Amino acid sequence: MDLFKKLLLDRGPLGRHQKVEEGYFMFPKLEGEIAPRMKFRGREVLTWSLNNYIGLANHPEVREVDAQAAKEWGLGYPMGARMMSGNTVYHEKLEEELASFVKKESVMLLNFGYQGICSMIDALVDRKDVIVYDAESHASIVDGVRLHMGKRFVYPHNDIEALKKFLARATKITEETGGGILVITEGVFGMSGNMGKLKEIVELRKDFEFRLLVDDAHGFGTMGKTGAGTGEEQGVQDEIDLYFSTFAKAMASLGAFVGGNKDVIDYLRYNVRSQIFAKSLPMPLVIGALKRLELLRTRPELREKLWTIVRALQDGFRANGFDIGTTNTAVTPVMLNGTVGEAANLAMDLRENYNIFCSVVIYPVVPKGTIILRIIPTATHSLADVEETIAAFNAIKKKLDDGYYREQHLVEFSE
Ligand code: PMP
Repeated sequence: MDLFKKLLLDRGPLGRHQKVEEGYFMFPKLEGEIAPRMKFRGREVLTWSLNNYIGLANHPEVREVDAQAAKEWGLGYPMGARMMSGNTVYHEKLEEELASFVKKESVMLLNFGYQGICSMIDALVDRKDVIVYDAESHASIVDGVRLHMGKRFVYPHNDIEALKKFLARATKITEETGGGILVITEGVFGMSGNMGKLKEIVELRKDFEFRLLVDDAHGFGTMGKTGAGTGEEQGVQDEIDLYFSTFAKAMASLGAFVGGNKDVIDYLRYNVRSQIFAKSLPMPLVIGALKRLELLRTRPELREKLWTIVRALQDGFRANGFDIGTTNTAVTPVMLNGTVGEAANLAMDLRENYNIFCSVVIYPVVPKGTIILRIIPTATHSLADVEETIAAFNAIKKKLDDGYYREQHLVEFSE
């Protein structure tokens, strides 16, 4: 059979939505300056779907530094991989400043979070080793684990008893193979908003020998007294062997990093293939990241503002009887019950008639019958935005409960 013909028959789990949803739910265009109010299909919408947690994406000081750095260095500089010809004092300075901020001996920059963590997992383990990881892990972790040639166990989300059982099995295996154990979790899970149970996990070291990798994409810059992340929040930053975050969320940029003891970071520098065989981060991104880190460190009021909005939003939803699950972070999932068709009608109503834009999560990402409207608060939102949103959610929830979206087919979606 022709390969492409076969692909197009199926189109993949997301590609199946292309025909009806493209331009609306898939690949929508948000236009205008990055802010709570942006344009969607020509109309202003209140946007709750950008991971611009502390408002750095369009911060005037950040924009100025980004522009200056691009003018001075261009996007080409430096050329080549870090290891060969693409290293600079700015890359090293950013690594030193990140290390000091997240309290790790050493830091290595990564060009992208997704690629970086995949490739790092690949570099950390061989077929003798065992990986044990949380079932709610991000695709980049799941795909990194897929590269692993040895045994892996996935434990139910945040289930420490199950983790213990798998660690006992992993220990037996590694005693035979002579390998080690890598536990992987997230600091903040991006869908549920649950924190990873880092404290409980590090306590298991009393009974098991393992190394811990934490992906803190959503925790870096939002959690902890200084914004250094979920390890700081739970008082266990020292116990995290490898602390990873992307620049794509609170830093509102591109790139990522991993911190740990110097010896293991040095090992990674020489073994993470996505860095060795890829061009170094362009200078404007590095200089821009230095500026963002400075603001993240020196303007705690940005994080405080984020939390004012988070509290108002989450308290408001709870007070109005909404189920927002067990989130204890900024990520705010509003759980509703309905079919995929109802979800589409409801989300469309929200965008068209209430001017609110947020992500809609449906089956197969969540079980059939569940709809999640995922709200990402930021420091740039206002309390008036929160009020407007809760009023709109009350209205759409009532319509959903009354069966309005079952009858009122604004769009046709296959189940
Ligand atoms: N890990 C987590 C938990 C994420 O949410 C993301 C998505 N930004 C990534 C890794 C990938 O990061 P990047 O966008 O930098 O590739």
